[in-house]
Amino acid sequence: RNTPRHLFVDEALASRAYEDTALPIGYNQTISQPYVVAAMTDLVLRGNPRRVLEIGTGSGYQAAVLAPLVEKLYTVERIEPLARQARQRFRKLGLRNIRASHSDGIEGLPEFAPYDAIITTAATEEIPPALLEQLSPDGGRLVIPLGGPHYQTLTLVTRQGDTYEHGDLDPVIFVPLLRGCV
Ligand code: SAH
Repeated sequence: RNTPRHLFVDEALASRAYEDTALPIGYNQTISQPYVVAAMTDLVLRGNPRRVLEIGTGSGYQAAVLAPLVEKLYTVERIEPLARQARQRFRKLGLRNIRASHSDGIEGLPEFAPYDAIITTAATEEIPPALLEQLSPDGGRLVIPLGGPHYQTLTLVTRQGDTYEHGDLDPVIFVPLLRGCV
């Protein structure tokens, strides 16, 4: 309720911003469905994380929802104009604890690792090893949609030392996690 979703879509779509649906944000990408943002936020927060990494900034909406609820939110986006727009939105909304980078999230963000939680908002068949490595060994949580292009399962991976526990949650549909920056 505190995050004005209409500021995260194009003006032409602003009238639809409060529908519970994903919407296009250009570059073949989407802002996620609010229900899914809420579900993923809930999964992340259950671990009481201080430092969180998001892969796939997109519009910046998920980051803006999470940031006020954690100490520091890192977010990475591979498409430069999206990263830039999201940064402008964070500034406008006074969200000062977000660090937004234009980089390939398949590599995670090693500079600031480890993270108490990592949230991936793009889908992949296999978990990038860097994300597992950059998860805190002390109960770090990774939330990630796993599967092919048309159907994925939201998955929660919890790390304790060198042990990773996997739990399958809801069926979801996300755009694919792609390698390299553009
Ligand atoms: N969390 C976003 C949802 C964006 S859709 C929101 O709230 O609006 C997923 C995003 O992941 C897209 O913007 C896409 O460009 C980005 N993405 C895909 N592969 C990526 C990668 N390897 N590294 C960083 N971002 C990636």
